[in-house]
Amino acid sequence: MAKTTEPAETESGRLYEDVDGRIDERDDWARRRRKAIPTDRRLMVVACMDERIPIEESLGIELGDAHVFRNAGGKVTDDVIRSAALSTNFFDTEEIVVVNHTDCGMMSAPDDAVVDGLERTAGGLDGVPLDPALPELTIGEASIADWVRMTDDIDRACRAQVELLRAHPLIPDDTEVHGYVYEVESDALRRPGERIAEEISTRAGR
Ligand SMILES: [Zn+2]
Repeated sequence: MAKTTEPAETESGRLYEDVDGRIDERDDWARRRRKAIPTDRRLMVVACMDERIPIEESLGIELGDAHVFRNAGGKVTDDVIRSAALSTNFFDTEEIVVVNHTDCGMMSAPDDAVVDGLERTAGGLDGVPLDPALPELTIGEASIADWVRMTDDIDRACRAQVELLRAHPLIPDDTEVHGYVYEVESDALRRPGERIAEEISTRAGR
């Protein structure tokens, strides 16, 4: 609401009431977190960083409506959990929407090609810190491919991200979590597993 520049309608029509209203709205906007005002839709969005997803437009949301977290693949990583835990427990977020998409870069290479590329850059992966602010968090015995988390099937991946959030102990049980697949080819969202294009293009879909 605070982003609007429309003067508020007042009973008396006095100018000062319009101006005061706008000043109060701006104050609410500027000091939202200090005043414990939640996002306008009490919403957090987790989406892939891909430049083709018009995330606000596709969901029909606006500036102020949601906390938006975008990363490679729209995966529920440790920092998504960190951010979602803060958003839901302290900023009154009640709903999380995950958006993955067709033709995601996370499906564009096999695991070993990604591991080789990262290994070349780092000159070996032993002891590489995953978080430069917390150098003690290293990959250890795990495969860096598990950390990168490439994707085989975007619909399955989307469902999996939703389940990870729903099951996580730091996210309140009553948080609504849903996922969608954005089709770059049609500029539309679908529920995971509902591939209309495939169904209406083959006899198997009848
Ligand atoms: Zn992507």
